[in-house]
This record gives sequence, structure tokens and C-alpha cells, in this order.
Amino acid sequence: MTFSIHGLPVARGIAIGRAVLVGSSRVEVAHYFIQPEQITAEIDRVRVGRNAVVDELQRLQHAMPKDAPPELTALLDVHLMLLEDETLTTGVKHWITDRLYNAEWALTTQLEIIARQFDEMEDEYLRERKADLEQVVERILRYMKGVVSPIALPPAKSAAERRKGGAHQMSPDESLTVPLVLVAHDLSPADMLQFKQSVFAGFVTDVGGKTSHTAIVARSLDIPAVVGARSASQLVRQDDWVIIDGDAGVVVVDPSPIILAEYGFKQRQGELERERLSRLRHTPAITLDGHKVELLANIEMPEDAVGAVTAGAVGVGLFRSEFLFMGRKGSLPDEEEQYQAYRRAVEGMQGMPVTIRTVDIGADKPLDKGQKEDTHLNPALGLRAIRWSLADPAMFLTQLRAILRAAVHGQVNLLIPMLAHGSEIRQTLSLLDFARAELDNRGVVYGPVKLGAMIEIPAAALSLPLFLKYFDFLSVGTNDLIQYTLAIDRADESVAHLYDPLHPAVLRLLTDTIQACHAQGKGVSVCGEMAGDVAMTRLLLGLGLRSFSMHPAQILAVKQEVLRADTARLGPWAKRVLESEDPALAMTEPLSARPDNEPCRVDSGLGPLPNF
Ligand code: PEP
Ligand code: MG
Repeated sequence: MTFSIHGLPVARGIAIGRAVLVGSSRVEVAHYFIQPEQITAEIDRVRVGRNAVVDELQRLQHAMPKDAPPELTALLDVHLMLLEDETLTTGVKHWITDRLYNAEWALTTQLEIIARQFDEMEDEYLRERKADLEQVVERILRYMKGVVSPIALPPAKSAAERRKGGAHQMSPDESLTVPLVLVAHDLSPADMLQFKQSVFAGFVTDVGGKTSHTAIVARSLDIPAVVGARSASQLVRQDDWVIIDGDAGVVVVDPSPIILAEYGFKQRQGELERERLSRLRHTPAITLDGHKVELLANIEMPEDAVGAVTAGAVGVGLFRSEFLFMGRKGSLPDEEEQYQAYRRAVEGMQGMPVTIRTVDIGADKPLDKGQKEDTHLNPALGLRAIRWSLADPAMFLTQLRAILRAAVHGQVNLLIPMLAHGSEIRQTLSLLDFARAELDNRGVVYGPVKLGAMIEIPAAALSLPLFLKYFDFLSVGTNDLIQYTLAIDRADESVAHLYDPLHPAVLRLLTDTIQACHAQGKGVSVCGEMAGDVAMTRLLLGLGLRSFSMHPAQILAVKQEVLRADTARLGPWAKRVLESEDPALAMTEPLSARPDNEPCRVDSGLGPLPNF
């Protein structure tokens, strides 16, 4: 039966595919695809794991004292029976053979399916056996955890290739090429990073806000995504056909043929729109009245530089270096590893500037999965970003040295996140001096860097003279600036309706920052999600912004807005929006006529604008 689930749209487009549910097991498992020739070895791993658990339980049974409570013996019998059950073994074999899931993934997938069958049972005693099943599967998984899979990550089909395959075109025996969509309760940014090289054509999570870091990584993958879909992971079953409408924030489960055809059409329209936009790749971003606009890329890994260049970025405005630190089970990258990573990003940008932000770990970006649960009561207000760095000077110095060394290979800007206090600024600067002195002592070469601060705490936006005294440029992190100005957890879908980039207070802080930088001739950009939102481009241009940093996937759509913009008309309109009690409403008002004495640039020298 077709039904739909509503959540928050985070990454545009339509994905149609079979649902893959992950993350329901209490044991952390890896999810990856194996090669066909590895099927037998992978099935063997499960068999060995299962046999080991059977042996263990049988040993326990034999060692059981005569006067042991009968419930205990009965429990062991039930566990052994579940382990022998055909449904478990046949199902696991199916996922490995037909879908090429790795052993652990196949096991948790089958667990999910049987667990649902238990849930639907009338008999209470049988329903309660679900917990036993979970226990035996977890025993097998734990056993397998100690036995490392010899299988490496195979090269996967790209998400774009997957996205192209419409569900309605698939036949059952083509199951290996069926697009897959990921459905999970929650995914950490590190999980998302793992999925970066994978095959998913879209994803849905129960939790998360539009600017949560998980959503941000999803956007960088450029696949349709919906977050905050509440109970999606409960309602969707393994292998259901699912449509993800990333524009509307809707998930359609088990769609009828008519609905499938409709979304298939929308999907093709989206592809055509992308193709049309791609013609703007080499067009400089200049407004109708001749203002040059800098469109930069936000990246998470050095390898993303390639995509940034392809998308037409003129530099990297935000390299979120913390992604190099995540999912490493506590061991942090050393100076050499970081230097090589930054160097790859710098060289990848082929002479264009790269802004490397020092590590911003904390809040919804834990170092490792699972760490999320142990953090403090208000992690977003806790030891995050520069606070974390200053609390561990040795770690911070290592990163600073690596960045300084990478600056030998191209133009590097150093960006510091979440500063609020003068003391933090001064400590950061003295550590930077110290890092240079250490490199001097070691006789290691390093390059010059421009120094920037992120404006993402209201206190920083209200202390601009202090920041402008010490920094060469400022970059407004609107994701956090909105979160901290409005006291809305950006990762919490239950307050997502109050997370408002157009709140007058947010616009005021943003405008003040832009104006203060202009007054002192210092660079200013916006690198939060607002910069990549085409609905905001005209407003930001009208407020005077000329440097935008966003996911590479957004660059061409924003460029299209820039090419159509006339800042002479946008300026007065943006001023009215800024002064309005209801900026969202004021934004719907038409622009006034352009002043007579300011002719609009008719011939840009670029030839005619592409006709959209
Ligand atoms: C921001 O806060 O707007 C920003 C760009 O940083 P992050 O999203 O990584 O917190
Ligand atoms: Mg931030």
C-alpha cells in the first residue's frame, strides 16, 4: 500500500530505489558491497561465526549445574533453535549472494526482517522471542568483529549512475543494478563520509535538522535526501520501493505505478535542468550591472577539490578539516598525514585559493560514532571547535604546522571556527607564532597564510572591531550564527520550524559583518548553507555580499541567479527586507525600477546569456 512520510528537504532531486535499512543493530557494523567472487568467503564468515556461537551455547548447556533453573535451560534451547533456523541462514545467504552485502550487513538486514515478523505475531510469548533473536545475532556479530573481513571496499558505481536507473525500468533479475536508498534512524557525519564512496542514490533519516552536519554532508554528496522524517526507519521495510523527493522533503513508500511514472518524469526533468545549468560552468559570475562575484566551494576531503574545480569554483572557501579526524577510533592524524592531505587539496585547486578551517569537532560532529551519546548536556555549547583546539595545544600546534607547510604549495587561508573571546583570539595567534617558530627550529619550510575568523556566535558579530583588528578576513558561518542567535539546535528536527535565516536579528548581524569588513577593505564571505540557497542569493547580493562559499553542487544554480541579478535594484530592496518586521514577506515584494542614472550592463562581453 502506498503511503508517504514527510520530513525536511535537504538535498534536491528525486531518487527512486529499494530501501536499505541500516544501523538498527546495537552492535556497530560496517556496510559495504563485496565482489561476486567474494560471495563464498563472505557466506563462510557468517557460517563460522554462527558455528562458534552454537559451540559456545552447547558448552554452556553441558556445563549447566543439575539444579539450574529450568528457564535457563529453556532459554539456551530457544537460542540454539533460532541459530539453526532456516529463515535466518537462507535470508543471510540471499543478501550476500543477490545484493552483494558484506556478511555483517546481510546479518543485520535479515535480523530486521525476522524481527518485524515477530512484532506482528499475535502470541505474546512468540513476540517476546524477538529479543532472543537479537541476542543471538549480536553474539554472531561480536564473534565476527574479532575476525576481520579480508575484503576491501570495491569500487562502486557512482550515485549519479545509480540515480539514472529509474525503478520502473528494473526487472527482478537485475537486482544488482537496482538503485538503493538508505533509510536510517540517524547517521553521524562520519557514517555519511563512509557513504561518500558508495552507491546510494538517496537517503532518509528519522532525525536531524536542515543544517545538521549529516544533512550538510548529504548535500555535498549531491544526492536527494530527507531528514527529520520521524519514524521512517520504523515504517519502511527492508527492500521496499521508495521515492525520495529531496525538493519537497517527502518520502513515498511502495509507490503505485502511476506515482512512479509521475516521479520518473520529475526525475528526468531534474536531469535536464542539471544539464542546462552545466553550460554555465565556464561563465564568470558577474551581475548584470558588472559586479564580479566570487563563488567558492565547501569541501570535506582533499579529493573533493576535483569536484570543486569541475563545478567551476574559483577556490575553496571552507575546507572542513575535522573530517580528516573522524572515525579513527581515537587516533588523530599526525602532522605528516595532515600536511599531505592539505597539500592534495591545495594542488587539486590548481593555483586557486584554499581556505582551511582548523578542526571543528564537537556537537553533532563527534570524533567517533557512539561518542555522541557520551557527550555533555549541551554539546553545541560545550567543548567544540576552537575551544577543543585550545584545550589540546599539542594537537592544535600539529594542525597549524601542517597547514603552514601546505601553504608552500599554493595560496592558503587559515580560518578559525567559533571564536567569541579576545583571549581565544590572542591564544590562537600566539600558538600560530609558536608553530612557525617550531618549524623554523626544525628547518622546515612553510608558506604565508591569510588569517580569517568565522563569525558564527552572536558575541563575535557584536565585537567586529576586535575581530577586524586581528584578522585579514571574516567568514560568516550562518548555520551556527542562526543556531546561536535564535537558540535553536540546528540538528533537532522538532524545532526546525523556528530555524529561520530570515529572522531580523540574523540579518542584522550578517549585514553588520559585511558592512564592517567593507568599511575596512577586508574580505568577507558567507560559508553557511545560506550561501548555497538560491532563494537567498538576491538578498545576499543586495546586502553587499560578493563572496559565497557552498557545496560544489550548488555553484551553477547560484551562478545563474548572479547572472540575472542587478545589484543597483537589489540594494534598496534588500534594505527594505532588512528593515521589515517580516523579512520573508518583504522578500516577495517586487524590486523597484533601477535608478535612471545607473545604466544596466547590457553587453557583458560574455555573449548572450544562456536561455533557460
Ligand atoms: C556554519 O556554521 O555556518 C559553518 C559553515 O560551519 P559548520 O556548518 O561546519 O558548523
Ligand atoms: Mg559552524
